[in-house]
Amino acid sequence: MDRALLGLLIVFLLVTANAVAKPAPAKSPSSGRTSKTILNGRIYSDLGSWAAANGFVSRWDARSGELLVSNRWSRLLFKADTKRVEMDGVTVWLSYSILRGGDHLYFAQYDEDSTLRPLLNPPRNDPKKKITTIAINAGHGGKDPGNIEGTRQEKLYTLQLALEVERQLKRAGLKVVMIRDTDKFVTLEDRPAIARARGADMFVSLHYNCSPSGGEAQGVETFCLTPAGASSTNDRGGNSAGFLPGNRNDRENLCLAYELHRAVRREVDLADRGVRRARFRELTLATMPAVLIEGGFMTNNDDARRIYSETGRSRYATAIVDGILSYKRLVERGQPE
Ligand SMILES: [Zn+2]
Repeated sequence: MDRALLGLLIVFLLVTANAVAKPAPAKSPSSGRTSKTILNGRIYSDLGSWAAANGFVSRWDARSGELLVSNRWSRLLFKADTKRVEMDGVTVWLSYSILRGGDHLYFAQYDEDSTLRPLLNPPRNDPKKKITTIAINAGHGGKDPGNIEGTRQEKLYTLQLALEVERQLKRAGLKVVMIRDTDKFVTLEDRPAIARARGADMFVSLHYNCSPSGGEAQGVETFCLTPAGASSTNDRGGNSAGFLPGNRNDRENLCLAYELHRAVRREVDLADRGVRRARFRELTLATMPAVLIEGGFMTNNDDARRIYSETGRSRYATAIVDGILSYKRLVERGQPE
């Protein structure tokens, strides 16, 4: 049986059993409790009661299987049988699918802890610790060309973008650590190490995508490190790992990825492939908040035009800098200037 269908059936049975054993899940905001259920050894929360307990109003559409949850600050759209959540218009991928049982949606407690809570209650930096220095990592270089599309090599375009981001960051008053500023090879291990040795407060890695299946795939995706114990967004499940050095900044990594992705989506006309998780080597070893952006597909005509043109690159760089600045404002909120 299809896994999603099996999940649905189990949820349905559990909900039916629960209906006899205890009162139906809360529907009014005053109840203040989230009803929970255990499935395959994992804790799931009833989304409607979670929303009510957290001061959200929810609107359920049985036909599309979508639950819209909103308050005056945030608007979240959940869809049954997917790992996608749309948060204020930005796609964020969860670690586990949202399950449906009758007119209820259920999401994993793991996702509440590792994704929703940090995004809804972002971390705040120690007032003594200001973000002043940004490490910019141009992907690939030297003997490693990255993706190749015709005569175009990814390493060249990531470098041109990195140099433009450097210019704009300096103009905004920030210090920049360039992991490479020429066409040279740097190992994946050395990249976060250089950032650390030179006192960077943030690590932003720049890449471009290629699709082996042709020109249809397009858009931007922003990766942060997969939290311990979960599968990465592009895995088919089962590839989990323990706590890695980069996991000490899980909450900051996610919020940085979200702010960057949101700025790019707002300012550049690139399709939204979402905030994702992966265990890229650079991210696993970074000791400061770190993200990797795949800024479009060299194999897609629309994306490629932006990647190869100076105006496209400059606009994309501005969006990246705006994302960095909005993350800085977010984690330094309430601090004296
Ligand atoms: Zn790359």
